[in-house]
Amino acid sequence: MSYKNFPMVPRVIFGRGGFNQLSEILAPKRLSMNAPFIYIIDDVFKNNSWLTSRIPLAYSDKIIFVSTKEEPKTSQVDDLVEDIILTTKELPSGIIGIGGGSALDLAKAVSIMLTNEGEAKDYQGWDLVKHAAIYHVGIPTISGTGAEVSRTTVLIGPEKKLGINSDFTPFDQVILDSELTKDIPTDQWFFTGMDCYIHCIESLTGTYLNAFSQTYGNMALELCKEVFLENSLTDIESQEKLMMASWHGGMSIAYSQVGVAHAMSYPLAYLLGIKHGVGNCIVFDHLEEFYPEGVKLFKAMKKKHQIVLPKGLCANLRDEEIDKMISIALNLVPLWENALGKNWKSIITPKKLKELYLKM
Ligand code: NAD
Ligand code: ZN
Repeated sequence: MSYKNFPMVPRVIFGRGGFNQLSEILAPKRLSMNAPFIYIIDDVFKNNSWLTSRIPLAYSDKIIFVSTKEEPKTSQVDDLVEDIILTTKELPSGIIGIGGGSALDLAKAVSIMLTNEGEAKDYQGWDLVKHAAIYHVGIPTISGTGAEVSRTTVLIGPEKKLGINSDFTPFDQVILDSELTKDIPTDQWFFTGMDCYIHCIESLTGTYLNAFSQTYGNMALELCKEVFLENSLTDIESQEKLMMASWHGGMSIAYSQVGVAHAMSYPLAYLLGIKHGVGNCIVFDHLEEFYPEGVKLFKAMKKKHQIVLPKGLCANLRDEEIDKMISIALNLVPLWENALGKNWKSIITPKKLKELYLKM
């Protein structure tokens, strides 16, 4: 038996207003006047001076705003890297990602691709990265994905949606400042928050479960229940707790695996462009059979926050499209094995998946 040797984020700040410490964190990391810090920021903050005025720009440091309408693509990473190489005299001193899972993943991927040859799509998979990434910092502005702690950066490539999983992927520094999450619209808060909740349920009920994953998973699940079901939390408590739930949920799956909802929502993202958070919710809503307790609680949370999920996404798809989704889903073997055990193929057949997709 060989156990995973999982790298963790070595430095983290937790606290309201911790974002203001960015300048003191970065100063000693500046390699030279010609080696800028590049900020990859969700464009939702483009005209938000409350955030942007606190970014300590100097020399040729630069902000690149990225759209998060669609999930990050390998070609988008390649374009960003090319732009950085063409416009800077030396390799950057650091890449700072500010935003949700999309901006964080772009920052991670760009920091890797600046020091590794070829195209981002060549590195989708496990442990294909050869050289250490540029110093990279993650600053989440929405909680749930666990992208701030994970060893992957999930990208949509020409052939697949798959992460660059490597020891060089995790951030060198994370700043958890819950104040940055204060203005998220309710629907989006719920969808991304539920990504964390679903990570917990899939990890805690999976066959890959172990004490490492269980302890983190239980903690994250309790926090999710408080945030989404209790009335007694202040806004600040709720924002701080969800931020920590995301972190622990990410740590939980780091040493186990996700399950049915993730396996079925990946094809929704790849083929229909449905984003991860809402895609997971759409799928999870129909998974009573696999996660009876988890789905019951999910429905209660959905009701409490009056969330309406999109319906009828797959009803009008052509057979070839449904077949393609099924084949992508079935390829995610570790997810099924975690969810249903070694004999998963006897439980989850193409026919079964088709029935489920047609309900969505
Ligand atoms: P996201 O980053 O796409 O952001 C969702 C929406 O929230 C966007 O419209 C964004 O502009 C908005 N937003 C973010 N912060 C805000 C704020 N403070 N105020 C107002 N609006 C704000 O969504 P996400 O759910 O955080 O991330 C999804 C992505 O993360 C997917 O691409 C998914 O594949 C990836 N992901 C990665 C990992 C990983 O471990 N690397 C894990 C899970 C998911
Ligand atoms: Zn997820």
